[in-house]
Amino acid sequence: MGLASKTRIGRLLTVFALPVDDPELARSQLAAFSKQIPLLYAILTINALGLAATHLATAPPLLTIGVPLCLCVACCLRGIYWLRLDVSALTCHQAVGSLRTTMRLVGLLGAAFTAWSLSLYPYGDVLAQCHVAFYMSITVISCILCLMHLRGAALLLTAIVVTPFTIFFICTGDLVLIAIAVNLVLVTCGLIAMMMRNYNDFAGLIRSRKILLDRQQEMQILSDENHRLAYLDVLTGLPNRRSFLARLDETIVAAALGPMRFAVALLDLDGFKSVNDVQGHAAGDELLVQIGRRLEGLATRKAFVARLGGDEFGVILTDFGSDSDIIAFGQEMLGLLRAPCLVKETMVAIAGSIGVAIYPEAGLTAEDLFERADYALYYVKQTQKGQVVIFSENHEDIVRRNGRIEQALRRADLEQELEMVYQPIIDTMTNRVLAFEALARWHSPDIGQVNPQIFLPIAERRQLIGQVTETLLAKALQAAKPWPRHVTLCFNLSACDVMSPATMAAVQRIVLASGIEPSRVEFEITETAAMEDFTQVVTSIGQLRDLGARIALDDFGSGFSSLGRLLLLRVDKIKIDKSFVSEIGHSRTAPSIIRSVVGLCEDLGIDCVVEGVETEFQRAILQGLGCRSMQGYLFSKPISSSNLAALLVEDGRATKARPRIPVTLP
Ligand code: C2E
Ligand code: CA
Ligand code: CA
Repeated sequence: MGLASKTRIGRLLTVFALPVDDPELARSQLAAFSKQIPLLYAILTINALGLAATHLATAPPLLTIGVPLCLCVACCLRGIYWLRLDVSALTCHQAVGSLRTTMRLVGLLGAAFTAWSLSLYPYGDVLAQCHVAFYMSITVISCILCLMHLRGAALLLTAIVVTPFTIFFICTGDLVLIAIAVNLVLVTCGLIAMMMRNYNDFAGLIRSRKILLDRQQEMQILSDENHRLAYLDVLTGLPNRRSFLARLDETIVAAALGPMRFAVALLDLDGFKSVNDVQGHAAGDELLVQIGRRLEGLATRKAFVARLGGDEFGVILTDFGSDSDIIAFGQEMLGLLRAPCLVKETMVAIAGSIGVAIYPEAGLTAEDLFERADYALYYVKQTQKGQVVIFSENHEDIVRRNGRIEQALRRADLEQELEMVYQPIIDTMTNRVLAFEALARWHSPDIGQVNPQIFLPIAERRQLIGQVTETLLAKALQAAKPWPRHVTLCFNLSACDVMSPATMAAVQRIVLASGIEPSRVEFEITETAAMEDFTQVVTSIGQLRDLGARIALDDFGSGFSSLGRLLLLRVDKIKIDKSFVSEIGHSRTAPSIIRSVVGLCEDLGIDCVVEGVETEFQRAILQGLGCRSMQGYLFSKPISSSNLAALLVEDGRATKARPRIPVTLP
């Protein structure tokens, strides 16, 4: 057999094949034709019973009762099976299996019915013989129509019934029967042609429906992904700000329906900025990912954790007993943060502060709750960094006041509005002025006199401190010019100044431009949590020392300073914090600490000053503890530059006498 004829046969055989590789088509075929098949069995049964009845008197009972009964029972059983079959519950594999069984049964039943009807032919008269021919042709046409959606089965049935039918009736030699056979062949050919076209249309429809469904599914997946991304923080995988706000709205609705309290907590990282600045953004991102993972561990049905942006995270806590539970939860969060992170082979320590607003006390709307949690956060960052604080009205007042101060500071003419006052540091053995500490004063035309402890932290936070420091330093150096050479100018630098290379460069430039010998200038630096990058602190101190200036460590013992760091910083002087002095006479530890610090300074060969000396009693005790240099209201309050000139004249005249300055105790 040639290759071409082989391929032709192969192509011919494919029309009988089941759509095994197209499960969707198999299911649709089954679904379409399962509705027709009970009808097919009903037609078969009724027609067969009719044929058996017309031959009952003439043919043997086996052919009129036995065989048709068996065939009809088989048809009824199959009919019932199809009526009860739930096609939608079938898997694609089961659908193909069912189609295969149907094909086999079509072949089997077709052959059985054909053999049975032809076997009745010899028993009847001419009319009965015509009934056989009519029965077979009408039944096969009905069956082909019913099997329209299962092309292979329809073709198989046509072949099994029409071929023997035609041969049989042509062989009878009867012209009428031969005409019927030819008729049937022509009708079935027409039917098959119609069916083939219909089948192709049907298969095409199913395929295009499948393509459409696939596309729809792809679109759905894409839109689901878009939705997911819109509500997810890509970096940490936590829900994002939008998601947080949506959840907050939902929680408010739920809380309004039933009496329910819930908390909105805002967490802000302390120290993240320096990781970003010093180690780069990639390290910052890596750190955020690690922190996100830790916080994710806290997320439960009752705690919704999200990243709100930058280094800020938010939590909605819905189930807690009392406010102390919220604090405990916040502490747990902060505890998780504190564990060091390994970022780009460097151990990074990070901390955080949390502000909380509770519904309904702090507000009923998302905006109010958010704003008040933010107030509490702002407050905690200023006063108790590293802690959890629940919002109270007081926080709001502070935030509003600071907002006003910030606005006034932004508008301020610093040169005009800022002023320096000077407080002497006295050698209590000789009663002579050793130095003056310059202290900032701001008189705003809008809001009046503002305490440096209020406006300086605001200037630090709003990145205005650099300009403030530069203006103040220039003023202080200008004022110090006429002072005797042995009198030092002590100038306070903020932690932000020390952390900023730009401000440090400006400070050096201003000192050099002033014409004052840098050795007459002492910079006071307070160790604070803002000194996140210790290397930068050491560099800045090094630059000032290289310039020839001296360095004093201010507020020693007030909290952040540590001995280990002190040794690394190479300072020239320590200023013992005034809190120790006020404790003298009340506690036994304060005097012993002062004594140890004085001893330490002697050992290290550095100077020591005690601040905040207000009474003779304190002075006497401090002298007994070995302190010589002192500063405080006992000697003088901070005074203006013009009053200071008079004081210096007096100081020069009576070197042995105590400076007689009007001292007003607060
Ligand atoms: P500080 O550097 O510890 O300055 C000493 C503060 O203690 C001054 O407050 C001073 O007026 C006050 N004081 C002096 N003697 C006594 C005393 O006997 N008893 C009491 N209770 N207090 C005394 P002031 O001027 O309000 O300054 C507060 C803080 O503001 C300063 O603390 C310093 O940290 C900061 N500050 C002031 N001026 C500047 C400045 O020009 N630059 C920077 N960066 N910070 C400044
Ligand atoms: Ca100071
Ligand atoms: Ca101080």
